[in-house]
Amino acid sequence: MDCNVLVFNCGSSSIKFQLLKVDTEQVLAKGSVERVGSIDGTITFESAAGETTANEPVPDHAAGMTLIREAFKRGGFDLDNAGIVAIGHRVVHGGAAFSAPVLINDEALTAMRDVSVLAPLHNPANIIGIERASAAFPKLPQVAVFDTAFFQNLPAAASTYAVDRQLASDNGIRRYGFHGTSHQYVSGRVPLMLNRDPSELNQIVLHLGNGASVAAIRGGAPVETSMGMTPLEGLVMGTRSGDIDAGVIFHLHRVAGMSVDQIDTALNRKSGMVGLSGVNDFRDLHALVAGGDHDAQLALDVYIHRIKKYVGAYSAILGRLDAITFTAGIGENDSIVRSLALAGLEGFGIVIDSERNNAKTRGARVISADDSRVAVLVVPTNEELEIAQQTLDVVKKRM
Ligand code: AMP
Repeated sequence: MDCNVLVFNCGSSSIKFQLLKVDTEQVLAKGSVERVGSIDGTITFESAAGETTANEPVPDHAAGMTLIREAFKRGGFDLDNAGIVAIGHRVVHGGAAFSAPVLINDEALTAMRDVSVLAPLHNPANIIGIERASAAFPKLPQVAVFDTAFFQNLPAAASTYAVDRQLASDNGIRRYGFHGTSHQYVSGRVPLMLNRDPSELNQIVLHLGNGASVAAIRGGAPVETSMGMTPLEGLVMGTRSGDIDAGVIFHLHRVAGMSVDQIDTALNRKSGMVGLSGVNDFRDLHALVAGGDHDAQLALDVYIHRIKKYVGAYSAILGRLDAITFTAGIGENDSIVRSLALAGLEGFGIVIDSERNNAKTRGARVISADDSRVAVLVVPTNEELEIAQQTLDVVKKRM
């Protein structure tokens, strides 16, 4: 049976795509349309034949889909005969409605629109992407894979905020968690790498990218995660504060006279590493630290302190920890952050081997010392592959 899946990740001004052969995990082609909604958009397309970039007007997502079809054609792929069995879409928020990927139909789209209020910056663009892809590829089943779904069945003790229950249920206030596709993919790879039974493994996964989150997973099921009702909670991020006393928000409103939108921008876009140091790329941050910049040093200290606090808390929740895994842009590439984050945790059985940690290897690898009771790993995340696999599973169930 053919098992190629086309994956879309539609944002408000971009469409990223990948064509994957799921059984061999091979990326046949990938690319992106950037600056959707503008006359000077760009489309990049990459396959075994090479990479091309073209500037084109992209007035809307429908135009973007047409450009993608044409780019595939120029790249030698006839999408109607490329063995594609389905299209998989990344959707940021599934709310309480979706704990698993879903085949798109009118009912699912209505439920997704209802959830949009929880992710007003992301879900509407995801839905537009689904509608435009359905029009551009009318014969292919479309599947939505939700970034929150992996965490939908968190234990109630972890997903519940201690606020008035009626207020919470009237307004969908609970901890949903995000980066679920990444946490699911990475935590699924760890037992394979360690040759362990997944049902016996207690893990912590640190997804450290521009957005960052940590998850505790017991026997394959998540039991805690650091992002909450929105992606603002938890670790320090590129531009987000992570955990903050909610009282700060009242103070900024009442005393500093800031509007809700201004506070939203301050905490989501102007905080975190950018707010503390002026930069959010860790390569720039380390250069500033090396040059003696005190703000950059404090930013790094706060960042590391927060990670360590979560590793300790999640170890306590798990009771016994078997593996800690780093993933995403910083987790995969930044050996300084990895070593600082786990420094001094030898008493917890966590020992990094510095040579393994500093090796310029790419790909999934173990970086703990042989005598470390807890395995420490780096596993490059692959959200597109996870979306493609889940999409294929949904489609196979219909056959
Ligand atoms: P992501 O959101 O997963 O794409 O991660 C993006 C972030 O990864 C960037 O903002 C950088 O801070 C970080 N990053 C990417 N490459 C490197 C690198 N070679 N060394 C350190 N940090 C990196």
